[in-house]
Amino acid sequence: MRRAEFFVRDSEKRHLTCHLCPNRCVIRDNKTGVCRVRKNIDGVLYALNYGEVSSYGMDPIEKKPLYHFYPGHQIFSLGTVGCNLHCRFCQNWEIAHGEPPTVRVTPEEIVHLARQQRQCIGIAYTYSEPLVWYEFVSETAVLAHEAGLKNVLVTNGFIEQEPLEKLLPHVDAMNIDVKAFTNDYYRRLCAGRLDPVRRTVEIAVRHCLVELTTLLVTGENDSPGEIRELVDWIARVDREIPLHLSRYFPHYRFDAPPTPLATMRCAREIAREKLPYVYLGNVGDVENGYTYCPQCRKKVIERSGYIIRAVHLREDNRCRHCGYALNIVGEARATAS
Ligand code: SF4
Repeated sequence: MRRAEFFVRDSEKRHLTCHLCPNRCVIRDNKTGVCRVRKNIDGVLYALNYGEVSSYGMDPIEKKPLYHFYPGHQIFSLGTVGCNLHCRFCQNWEIAHGEPPTVRVTPEEIVHLARQQRQCIGIAYTYSEPLVWYEFVSETAVLAHEAGLKNVLVTNGFIEQEPLEKLLPHVDAMNIDVKAFTNDYYRRLCAGRLDPVRRTVEIAVRHCLVELTTLLVTGENDSPGEIRELVDWIARVDREIPLHLSRYFPHYRFDAPPTPLATMRCAREIAREKLPYVYLGNVGDVENGYTYCPQCRKKVIERSGYIIRAVHLREDNRCRHCGYALNIVGEARATAS
């Protein structure tokens, strides 16, 4: 437990308001906010999950998913408990909304562990929502940079502007979930709002590599019209942002049937009209992982699941066929032939 940042007490000190995320929870004494991990104790907000790790391990960077950041490399990944959204189809509800066992660690120990791993580019804060682990992530990220490691956030992007801008100098890449492109969807299915997430993407893209993920949920956010609106907005922000369209399967408190494969392919075609880097997830089709050069349309990275089979890029991440500079950060390397 550690004193949290970003809260304001009321004048009588009976309750306080947390300003970390757009929920802006008003928290009475001895109570927690919506995320369950920030608690008012005698008029001071504490981060209950500081240093509490629910899961950790080495992952391919492609698993985050990040396809344009050090392709073919491994990253030390860890997560905590709690989340500031409540998605009815949450894929990680056991740690986001349950009571999983945790181990207690310090930022120094995490950096030390990451440095001990072979061929590890850095640390990914993932599995549950890293933004409600703010103090621990910030402190660890600073130490990681000092040690020459990269920092990656896999996040829902639901954060206020001030804490976001304070954290971004220590972040190298983000995968941000844009769960849908309507406030109605966010309100009904996630207990959140779209607008703050849009703001996070628009700010983050100026600071680090950003990739986006949208889980297409059957009958909820998968209409051609909504996908077109999403894609038009991404293209206006930066058409070079990679977009991962992921297939939904029933989970947690949602039992609509899996997204039809025809819907996934239709969404990909719509997205490719405006964006050069579009990937499908959870569909089991090898070609969905390929990266194509936006200029000459030739394959530049051939992926099969998390395995990189071939790289057709120069050392400066320009296309080996036509010289186009791709939006890829870091060395790309094949992990199998
Ligand atoms: S971080 Fe948690 S306590 Fe703070 S406003 Fe968001 S949900 Fe509420």
